[in-house]
Amino acid sequence: NTDSSTPSDRSPVAYLKRYYGYDHFRPMQEAIIQSVLAGKDTVVLMPTGGGKSVCFQIPALMLPGITVVVSPLIALMKDQVEALQLNGVAAVYLNSTQSAREQRQIEDDCLAGKIKLLYTSPEKLLSESFFIFLQQLNLSLFAIDEAHCISSWGHDFRPEYTQLHALRAQFPAIPMIALTATADKLTRQDIATRLGMVDPQVFVASFNRPNLSLQVLPGTNRLQQIVRLLQMKPDTSGIIYCLSRKATENLAAKLQEKGLMAGFYHAGMSNSERSMVQEMFLKDDIRIMCATIAFGMGIDKSNVRWVIHYNMPKNMEGFYQEIGRAGRDGSPADTVLFYSFADVATYKDMLSEAKPANLGVQLAKLERMQQYADAHTCRRRILLSYFSEELTEPCGNCDVCRNPRVTFDGTILAQKALSAIVRVQERVPMNLLIDILRGSRSQTVLQYGYDKVKTYGAGKDLKFDEWRSYLHQLINIGVIEIAYDQHYALKKGILGDAVLFEGRKIELVRPEDVLKPVVEKPKAKN
Ligand code: ADP
Ligand code: ZN
Repeated sequence: NTDSSTPSDRSPVAYLKRYYGYDHFRPMQEAIIQSVLAGKDTVVLMPTGGGKSVCFQIPALMLPGITVVVSPLIALMKDQVEALQLNGVAAVYLNSTQSAREQRQIEDDCLAGKIKLLYTSPEKLLSESFFIFLQQLNLSLFAIDEAHCISSWGHDFRPEYTQLHALRAQFPAIPMIALTATADKLTRQDIATRLGMVDPQVFVASFNRPNLSLQVLPGTNRLQQIVRLLQMKPDTSGIIYCLSRKATENLAAKLQEKGLMAGFYHAGMSNSERSMVQEMFLKDDIRIMCATIAFGMGIDKSNVRWVIHYNMPKNMEGFYQEIGRAGRDGSPADTVLFYSFADVATYKDMLSEAKPANLGVQLAKLERMQQYADAHTCRRRILLSYFSEELTEPCGNCDVCRNPRVTFDGTILAQKALSAIVRVQERVPMNLLIDILRGSRSQTVLQYGYDKVKTYGAGKDLKFDEWRSYLHQLINIGVIEIAYDQHYALKKGILGDAVLFEGRKIELVRPEDVLKPVVEKPKAKN
């Protein structure tokens, strides 16, 4: 019975103390809870570990009826619910892993009003019989966790999530809270639209993790470079993310040969093997974990001192999540990304083979990641601006800040690019814009009459790849923007008008001075 344990002081902070043992809210938590309690639709963007759970759990405890939590992570649902039960919260979960009898019992408890939080998967939620069950409940709130899965602009789009719009249609009076640790601006807006939210309150917590250093290194002799890096950090724990299962095993073996305490982890191992190595990592019996991205979800180790990406991640969202596993204790931690064109080529092959529902978006996100690796301006600025956060000063804790690149005055170049963009009404993607600037007589250029625009050929002194590098740089500093929702057309960015009309100076780096990725032959796929 939860009533007897209800705090006598019915304020959110009293619930925080009673059920979680904490004295204070973290920034935004209380405002979010107030928004939900006021019955408003609410969108929460907060990094992993930021404390999203209490934002819907405390309202669930305070509101009279039951809160239904939708989460795609069936594997984590059991642990989450058991942790809540240990704290005295009446929480249960319903998913396909349970027997019919178990499910019946849980449904009865919900119907009897004994339950405050019901966790379930989107698949389960959307079955017809489940809707009938929901209609019989005294519903207070829907909480949609990992909400980025609903958006085809998101990096982890799950088509089944889009059906969640049925919730609003069926239960128009029940408020919703959507939570995610990872969504760019477009995805964020799309989440609200797809859920049918009405004038939602949006909360975006800071994604800045100043204690993490950021570094990009060329993807050559990676093993040698890693061994050297690790020798500088004896007796520390860290994760090396690799692209394939086989690669995690090979790398671990090679590091062991060098006398390093390395293990490996991937989704091809049995459950017991996985929990064993995970346990060893937590206890520092394995210091170096060579892993696929399957490793890390739900693992709470605060003293991970470094994260290395053996291969470039597929997108900024994944990159941010993975480096975020370092330095949870707030002490300095290092992150290193190895970058090679071969990885980009491999991803492109993998994507065109897998044909995901949002292939174009995924390719664009890959390109954005590549731009980050190519960048010559503060990397943290780029990373944060991806999540719509401005950093007013360069960070001082990335390789570019530590080792500034040689620049030249690129204002004229920037103006040429911008005026071409304006003259084609911000309608053309990068490659076509370069063709126009270089005065190409390609079929598309001629067909649309782009050879008649005034800036046609204004940049013919530069090679295609040089323009590409400069445009990437201009995107990274906000002079130009990519409109992902308009066929990747290039548009003026936030600094665009300043460059065109106010004489704002722009510094650029010659392509050969940007970190030079070495072109390797793509390896055989495994
Ligand atoms: P997220 O879902 O955003 O990844 P969690 O909700 O799991 O994060 O919270 C991460 C950790 O922070 C948990 O251990 C949680 O108990 C803790 N936490 C949450 N809110 C507070 C708070 N106000 N004060 C101290 N710790 C908190
Ligand atoms: Zn920096």
